[in-house]
Amino acid sequence: KSRRRESADSESKELPIYRHRSKLVDAVRENSFLLVTGETGSGKTTQLPQYLHHAGFCKNGAIAITQPRRVAAITVAQRVAQEMHCTLGKEVGYQVRFDDYTSQDTVVKYMTDGCLLREVLADSSLSQYSIVVLDEVHERSLNTDILLGLLKKKILSNPEKGRSFPLKVVVMSATLESDKLSAFLGNCPVFSIPGRTYPVDCTFGFAVGPKDVDSTGYVKEVVKMAFDVHTSERAGDILVFLTGQLEIERACDLLFEKAETIDYRYDVQDQTVDGLLILPLYGSMPTDQQKQIFQSPPPGIRKCVVATNIAATSLTINGIKYIIDSGFVKQLNHNSRVGMDILEVVPISKSEAQQRAGRAGRTSAGKCFRIYNEAFWEKSMPEYTVPEIQRTSLTSVILTLKCLGVHDVIRFPYLDRPEERFILEALKQLYQFDAIDRRGNVTPLGQLMVEFPLQPGLTRALLNAASLGCEDLMLPVAAMLSVENIFIRPGKPEKQKEADEQHRALAAKSGSLNDFATLLSVFQSCKSSDRPSSWCKENWIHWRALKSAFSVETQLREILLRLKQKRDFPVETFHGNRSELLRRCLCTGYFTNVARRSIGKVFCTMDGNGSMVHIHPSSSLFDQEGELNWIIFHDVLVTSRVYVRTVCPIRYDWVKDLLPKLHEVNVYELSSVARE
Ligand code: ADP
Ligand code: MG
Repeated sequence: KSRRRESADSESKELPIYRHRSKLVDAVRENSFLLVTGETGSGKTTQLPQYLHHAGFCKNGAIAITQPRRVAAITVAQRVAQEMHCTLGKEVGYQVRFDDYTSQDTVVKYMTDGCLLREVLADSSLSQYSIVVLDEVHERSLNTDILLGLLKKKILSNPEKGRSFPLKVVVMSATLESDKLSAFLGNCPVFSIPGRTYPVDCTFGFAVGPKDVDSTGYVKEVVKMAFDVHTSERAGDILVFLTGQLEIERACDLLFEKAETIDYRYDVQDQTVDGLLILPLYGSMPTDQQKQIFQSPPPGIRKCVVATNIAATSLTINGIKYIIDSGFVKQLNHNSRVGMDILEVVPISKSEAQQRAGRAGRTSAGKCFRIYNEAFWEKSMPEYTVPEIQRTSLTSVILTLKCLGVHDVIRFPYLDRPEERFILEALKQLYQFDAIDRRGNVTPLGQLMVEFPLQPGLTRALLNAASLGCEDLMLPVAAMLSVENIFIRPGKPEKQKEADEQHRALAAKSGSLNDFATLLSVFQSCKSSDRPSSWCKENWIHWRALKSAFSVETQLREILLRLKQKRDFPVETFHGNRSELLRRCLCTGYFTNVARRSIGKVFCTMDGNGSMVHIHPSSSLFDQEGELNWIIFHDVLVTSRVYVRTVCPIRYDWVKDLLPKLHEVNVYELSSVARE
């Protein structure tokens, strides 16, 4: 039956890592590099930093613990603050992009790997830290891989450079690849925490086969399976792996409707379950909702968490006995057809499927139900997940490396080397944005661009606006594009019609058919409203997302102000129609995303790929295609067609001088400078 909730203190003493705490502390003390491996849930992330803190390592400086995922950094910091009986933001804090919960007193600091990479830029010796813990290294996120290379270079060459005491680095990973990692880190010692795991019985389903790699039917199948488990299996919580926020919310709705129909009084088996608690879990969820995930359900109630991959390794939920595996994951991949990074739903790897199943066997034997069949496993699922560095755009990272003085970006110590053409592609983009010159050196503009946690094109447009003195137009746009989607999509047809109408009215209010201008107008209207949250409600806008946009705008403004105070900040004057100002600035960052109408509703991109694209129905320019000739767009969605989203009409004149830049250098020219 249901377990009584115990205090965090006694819970943490039961974790596998607990018995090894003094040996672990000794190992950290004796080595500059240490690799710690152990099953997910053994206590690495939450406990090790506390042991190091108690052992006095914080006297010299804080402990930084990186996480590839933002939610993980936040929830883990909350948990550890609670275990250490302190207020979050005091001794224990977190820092993620656009959100800093740390203070002078913070000595145990959870942060995203992206944030630590930015700190390396400001202070390459990381002098405020005594220990850097790179966590969840097996996830192989782009930023963690780069940090690994940078720290390897530092420690193996000169760990004391720029510091009063040597830096220590602990690398933590769930099992797998520990030999390779240790070899990479100069054969550093490996401390493995023996885990106890229980058998998990896996069964394949019938619903999804190799033919279904592109279908979206998996949401319904997953719901059916979860419902079956709930009505036929003994007590124990369910964890469902799905792909993203939309799919998760839909699955939760469907499951809720189904669960309403159960009449528990007539349930036969000797079930102790008489209710289902359905909880979504995804990255951009409000953190107060996330807390519920970790709490035990009330007695007799079964908990069902519907999650993204975040629950596979970054977060461990106790009490899970059943896994439902959709077999899919949403992954950022470089799409060479459209020349951009695109979030795609793809089959998971076999090792990923094993990791998912393992979540059911942490405290007792469990079961894993896969909705896909064995042919799908054999034919559609790769053995391992390809590291992010080998499948996404490297533009920002290469600029960061260049700014850190790493000129030879080809021979940088990569744990897994990205293909050379991806590196060259990144250099080409940096050249196109004037961030590096023909010799591969960072330009003054590149030095400014690297300061912004935004994608390079957006940064370029923002800096252009700033030098023309019109950053008030571009800052809100950049902020709005950096938060989750602000437009509410209710899903139910009647409601959807109402929302669509409101959104169309908002677009009309912006004065021009231009999705970027709509974002600006929504931002300004809400900001100047007396009751912003009700304004959002009336207009079908996510108030929470808009609130983050306000905060992001302020932070971007602060970065910009700081840079503007520098003597050499570029200043330009604008000759032309002021009403075109926003669009002209956008062109300086989006000339890589220009398309021209070819026939009917079809546009053709100008980046050399010549892809055929359509305007997405969510754009205010949808159905206006006949009026348009040239457009720029923010991003791309690939389904059976290639759609462009967040679109703005432009004139050819505005990009005429920029477009040749797309073909000015070839990659062969850059390959020689890449090695210098
Ligand atoms: P590892 O890093 O080795 O995978 P963790 O330190 O993340 O292990 O997890 C150890 C334990 O702490 C798990 O049992 C997990 O359920 C618990 N835990 C982690 N975060 C929270 C939280 N926010 N609330 C409650 N329990 C948590
Ligand atoms: Mg962990």
